[in-house]
Amino acid sequence: MNYTRNILLALFCLVFQRAVLTGQNHFQPKNCMTVVARSGEDVPLLLQRYGLSDFSCNITQFFKINKLREDYRLKSGATYKLPLWVIPYNGKSIRTTLQLEDWQTAKRIETFNKNAVKQGLRSDNFIESKKLWVPFHEINCEESEAPVAAAKPGQAKLVAEGDIAAGGETSAKGNRVFPIFGPKYAKTPLASSRLKGKVFYLISGHGGPDSGAQGKRAGHTLCEDEYAYDVTLRLLRLLVSHGATAYMIVRDVNDGIRDDNFLSCDKDEVVWGNLTIPRGQKERLEQRTELINQLTAKHLRAGQRDQTVIEIHVDSRSQDSKTDVFFYYRPESAESKDLAHHIHRTFLEKYLKLRGQRGYNGSVTPRYLHTLEATTCQRAVYIELANIKNDWDQQRLVIKNNRQAVANWLFHALTTH
Ligand SMILES: [Zn+2]
Repeated sequence: MNYTRNILLALFCLVFQRAVLTGQNHFQPKNCMTVVARSGEDVPLLLQRYGLSDFSCNITQFFKINKLREDYRLKSGATYKLPLWVIPYNGKSIRTTLQLEDWQTAKRIETFNKNAVKQGLRSDNFIESKKLWVPFHEINCEESEAPVAAAKPGQAKLVAEGDIAAGGETSAKGNRVFPIFGPKYAKTPLASSRLKGKVFYLISGHGGPDSGAQGKRAGHTLCEDEYAYDVTLRLLRLLVSHGATAYMIVRDVNDGIRDDNFLSCDKDEVVWGNLTIPRGQKERLEQRTELINQLTAKHLRAGQRDQTVIEIHVDSRSQDSKTDVFFYYRPESAESKDLAHHIHRTFLEKYLKLRGQRGYNGSVTPRYLHTLEATTCQRAVYIELANIKNDWDQQRLVIKNNRQAVANWLFHALTTH
């Protein structure tokens, strides 16, 4: 494989040189395929349409060629470049077009082009149109970022063992499918490894017998625990996709990430390890912090000191009080206070960008809350996203893009601290 890659790299250098000399640069972005994002698509889903999502290098490349940050959210209807080159086909063979030694790579590229026709992604045949589609991963994937789903059996096994050893959400059989995200979002390719070794414990408030605060909207009951869960799960997916070891402490095996406006209320959530959530509030909170403390100790023994606890709520106040985001930190903990202030600043910046000067009244205060007192992990922040009874606040919750935006902001804040 190394040999093949070297040949390919050499070839690309040659072609690049020739292109510079002749003024026909085949590898400028204009020779990338472009695609229009559909509503609700994230980068992996968009790449999945073109059979490119199984290779994390494609995802990294996507951000690079589109000059986007890794927490960027795709805009429905906007055009993006794909990590998929269009190369003039020489009319003879793929191997001679690309000067490939490796027959199997050529065969895979051929299959890729044929499948693109079958799947309706292209209407022309590369032999007739002389336009060969070459996926970026066939040319430039580092072996350390080996294909995850299509990997050779040995490689797939390594990925799975690595994930299990790291703890947190684990992917089945090394193909980075995380059932907790639900069928639509389960496939979560590795976009980068920049959070490798960092540990996150995410708690969505309430759950199980306790659905938390409730609001009413358009004849629906809004349960706090469901909306907190969805935002938390979206944050978890971002963390996992960048290589973090992250735990979803409260779990619902049949919910996943939901794109509906109204999330139905249920009581079947459990806690990590498939533990039933007790009825009593004290027992319920202690169950979570004891579990997190055990995991914290385990990761500390493994030398992982970079650990963070985030708890997310959507509480209620009087109907007419609009609530911006409240952040609570552990009294007397500088680490907790710093992180809370950093997330708050990030939200201030994002709100300012979004709404100009419009007032944002989020606050950061110390508070004696169970999670903030009982976890051995000092870096803990407790967040109240909105008032579930207030009409204006409800809009922030019922629109899935808004839930995603909040998750993106939290992700941005957590990864820039
Ligand atoms: Zn709450």
